Amino acid sequence: MEEQGWTISHILLTHSHFDHVGGLAELKELTGAPIYAHPDAGPMLARATAAAALWGIHVDAPPPADHPLAEGDVLAIGELRPVVLFTPGHAPGHVCFHLPQDGVVFDGDVLFQGSIGRTDLPGGDYELLMSSIRDKLLPLPDETVVLSGHGRTFTDVQAHIDANRTLVHKRLATVERELAAHGPMTAFAAVPLVFPGLMNQQSANWLLSETLAFLRHLEMTGRATREIFDGEPEAWSIA
Ligand SMILES: [Zn+2]
Ligand SMILES: [Zn+2]
Repeated sequence: MEEQGWTISHILLTHSHFDHVGGLAELKELTGAPIYAHPDAGPMLARATAAAALWGIHVDAPPPADHPLAEGDVLAIGELRPVVLFTPGHAPGHVCFHLPQDGVVFDGDVLFQGSIGRTDLPGGDYELLMSSIRDKLLPLPDETVVLSGHGRTFTDVQAHIDANRTLVHKRLATVERELAAHGPMTAFAAVPLVFPGLMNQQSANWLLSETLAFLRHLEMTGRATREIFDGEPEAWSIA
């Protein structure tokens, strides 16, 4: 930054998961820049060190935000005028920063290329995330470049959602097929069949909750039945 002659005047948080606030204490100390975040993100920000410790990662205790953000706020950063979009669902107080003149949105962990943000962490809410996507991101022009918190950038949110829906249907069909061939099956047993080769220590929880969601969906739509054997984890069979 120094070499380029740039200065950091604002620190904007999309949300306060520890993987987004790891360097916050140091960054604020080095730059003296104020931190902007939605008030609902405050409690999780205060717990970031403890949350990271659960994953065996050290995060210096982040300072609290200096300025509250709200839906529709327009910030003035040099020539940039980011508009705040309130997009909860992945984490409490999640916001996106939309730069309409530049055709860019910083979307945090709401949408990624090929998937949506996870909602199984504390404060996550799937329905809320879907309404944030529908009400706040889908209306943006198709050519908007989405800079997400993880992975590659992409455009055309609608096509992206359609692709994601197709992927979900494909996975549902896989679960249905595996149940028919090998049921009754627990969610844990189904994970490696639905997500071959993807299971590892980091992904296990997430893949398990995705698989569980597929099984429950098949159950709710009458395509699978849930069985509970005494003292055993619940298992699903094809209906
Ligand atoms: Zn996150
Ligand atoms: Zn993240």
